[in-house]
Amino acid sequence: VQDFTQSLSIQSLCLSLGSISVKRTEIMSSLTIPPPPCLQKRLLVPHRYMFGPGPSNVPTRILEAGAKPVIGHMHPEIFEIMNDIKSGIRYVFQTQNKVSLAVSGTGHTAMECAIFNTVEPGDSVLVAVNGIWGERAADMAERIGARVNTIVAPPGGYLTNADIEKALSKHSPVLFFLAHGESSTGVLHPLEGIGDLCHKYNCLFLVDSVASIGGAPVYMDQQGIDILYTGSQKVLNAPPGTAPISFSERACRKVFNRTTKPVSFFLDLSWLANYWGCDDKPSRKYHHTGPVTAFYSLRESLAVLAEEGLENSWKRHQRVMLYFHAGLESMGLKLFVKDKDTRLPTVTTIVAPHGYDWKEITGYIMKTHNLEISGGLGPSVGLVLRVGLMGCNSSEANVDMVLAALRDALKHCHKSKV
Ligand code: PMP
Repeated sequence: VQDFTQSLSIQSLCLSLGSISVKRTEIMSSLTIPPPPCLQKRLLVPHRYMFGPGPSNVPTRILEAGAKPVIGHMHPEIFEIMNDIKSGIRYVFQTQNKVSLAVSGTGHTAMECAIFNTVEPGDSVLVAVNGIWGERAADMAERIGARVNTIVAPPGGYLTNADIEKALSKHSPVLFFLAHGESSTGVLHPLEGIGDLCHKYNCLFLVDSVASIGGAPVYMDQQGIDILYTGSQKVLNAPPGTAPISFSERACRKVFNRTTKPVSFFLDLSWLANYWGCDDKPSRKYHHTGPVTAFYSLRESLAVLAEEGLENSWKRHQRVMLYFHAGLESMGLKLFVKDKDTRLPTVTTIVAPHGYDWKEITGYIMKTHNLEISGGLGPSVGLVLRVGLMGCNSSEANVDMVLAALRDALKHCHKSKV
């Protein structure tokens, strides 16, 4: 072992100094791939203003929580922290659902958890497509053999309850998917009445609130939402990697009475519910190694939101959005979502300024102002610039910073004659 370690250190010395040559015969290592020189440099991460559609900046308190010591994923202390997370999720989702937990993964993991558990091969699924997230949900349901139908809203628009009812009665789906905050188009889709409609047609109502939770009102129980999920890295201001999700009793009945096993072991709700202590079983079983430090951060992010109060957070995001939109319009820029009432308070879509290359604008702002804003995604590519001001980033001071950066970019980026 000693020889081996020695030979490795000679090899790395050789790599780092370059000038010392060590004869091959002197190196006893069996390795053909040397330690990469890049890993011998110190880790460097810039500070950056994260004003794109996510991830957002993470405040020190939440970063510090994630830096606490690792404990076991089955230790009593982590179960306490997981209990705090479950209570926090019930608060931000406004639900009493017993099965409320966080999946280990990003928003996509929660999407798949929702769809893979509730849908069996051959089931009919209806998806509202008002941007990329509906497209992705339809893709996921197709992959597991569902019969998928979509109803498509025009970019920047939304669907009426009459559109939705017509499709529910035509396709008799077991599940209806809707993105509440469509971060690709900047639409905040109305939710009122849709839960009741779904239940009238014996269908579960699945809502994606990755971009909206904490920034706009959602009342899971009152609005008849059966499955609701979000991500950690937007309004919650935690690092990406955990995704809160909750299932109503109606949803659990469908999930726990399946005739086939869900396609994913990792996302199987019966395992997850047991690991999170959401079932009535006397003991919790090892399912996967929960990302404990990510749980600390998520716990702290929920605590920050609970301290501010959900309603205060909704109001602040609304106030900052109105201030931002007024500033954009006074610069002559146009908002992509025409209906004021359906503008997402967390992510603003600005019509890509005429005559400019949007990539040059986002590139200039990143280089000159160390600030991320982004272009469109999916159906909005080339049509918009997207600015996300979420959680701690939602403030008038940050709006002023973004407006100044945009003004500067429009002055310095190339504008064609057209
Ligand atoms: N849904 C919405 C509305 C989103 O904005 C995002 C992330 N941009 C996702 C789902 C997917 O989340 P993630 O990137 O964390 O997997």
